Amino acid sequence: MPQRKKREMTSFEEVSHFFDQAADQLKIKDELRDIMRSSYREVRVQLPVRMDNGSIKVFVGYRIQHNGARGPYKGGLRYHPEADLDEVRALAALMTWKTAVVGLPYGGSKGGVQCDPGTLSEMELNKLTRRYTQSIAYILGPSRDIPAPDLGTNAQVMAWIMDAYGQLHGYTPAVVTGKPVELGGSYGRDAATGRGLVYVLAEAAHALKMDLKGARVAVQGFGNVGSWTARLIGELGCKVIAVSDVKSGVVNERGLDISRLMDHNKQAGTLAGFRGGEALTNDELLALNCDLLIPAAIGNVLHAGNAGKVRAKVVVEGANHPTTHDADDILEDRGVMVLPDILVNAGGVTVSYFEWTQNIQEFRWEEDRVNHELRKVMSRAFWTVWERAQFAHVPLRLAAFTVGVERVARAIELRGFVV
Ligand code: NAD
Repeated sequence: MPQRKKREMTSFEEVSHFFDQAADQLKIKDELRDIMRSSYREVRVQLPVRMDNGSIKVFVGYRIQHNGARGPYKGGLRYHPEADLDEVRALAALMTWKTAVVGLPYGGSKGGVQCDPGTLSEMELNKLTRRYTQSIAYILGPSRDIPAPDLGTNAQVMAWIMDAYGQLHGYTPAVVTGKPVELGGSYGRDAATGRGLVYVLAEAAHALKMDLKGARVAVQGFGNVGSWTARLIGELGCKVIAVSDVKSGVVNERGLDISRLMDHNKQAGTLAGFRGGEALTNDELLALNCDLLIPAAIGNVLHAGNAGKVRAKVVVEGANHPTTHDADDILEDRGVMVLPDILVNAGGVTVSYFEWTQNIQEFRWEEDRVNHELRKVMSRAFWTVWERAQFAHVPLRLAAFTVGVERVARAIELRGFVV
């Protein structure tokens, strides 16, 4: 009989797989697992928008609240053609485990609008964001659910959300984080995910007794996370030899001049055509001979088909779920260490937490304080996960999920909300 091809798991099944491994490790009862695996609330909205050419286009948006046992729901808003129900559901669950791993008083949620923001004008994006905010405003709020930027969104989109929510409820800056500094955003929020990644990497190098001086780094994605990582990782003595975006990539074995690359990207809107290196594809970047590979773009980029080709010593997950569970197993068998997303990229939500507290207190922190507190949170989280991995003899991803799942399980039990 011909062998049937194994069906690939969906993104939510991937995240649930990691959750189940952690729940097995912790011997969590089935009834509690059922509460923790599925979402609390899933909202789908229709978003008709009058386009610049006078036509009406109907977009679809989601807001998924996964688990709120540890605090208000918290999670980014993604504008991407593949931001469907399954993807947003997976990302919402990851937020629950992420906020728990770094010890923030939040649950997990995520939003998504299926669109290609690069093809929309500023006015169309503004209208779409307002429509989306008005449609889900009844489940948002500083003590309910607080969006933030993610793939395809930025501080400007957050400003529109604040304004649209304010039209219904009055001035409420704490309803959204990642805002422009002029509107109550926090100093350091823009850089926070990349900076947090660098702080975790510094601790990991210490734990692994790895010398990062001259370490050769490849970064996939040159948006918020990728570009800040590329800018800041030099502080550890690393050299960025390759970066890519959705359309193109660039490599230079002697090291890329990141500030020149930033200028080029700003002017050209793409990395293509940069003169300080040779062109390379995303597939080539993932298989590049380097010390650190940092996926910082979209999900599922490392899969069973290419994990065997990864030549980096360590994969540092700046993006959310860039590695499928098959790829995770292959990388582990091949001795490639993976620093997992729910730890590595938690710097963004951590400074979002600082922004939210500043908004509630109506008090602004200096950037030094933000970065100092961020380092404390990221370092503590790293060592908690590291020690769990050592103690339980498990990879860092499973250790991180175990820490997160255990904290959420404990909160559910303490609250006694199952009656
Ligand atoms: P962004 O929109 O600012 O940048 C995304 C980058 O990825 C761009 O350079 C884009 O060209 C590139 N890209 C898009 N599709 C690609 C593809 N198919 N192949 C290669 N490159 C591609 O997004 P971001 O905010 O930097 O988010 C990147 C990742 O980091 C996402 O997985 C996001 O969920 C995760 N993340 C972001 C934050 C944050 O604070 N922004 C926090 C935690 C995790």
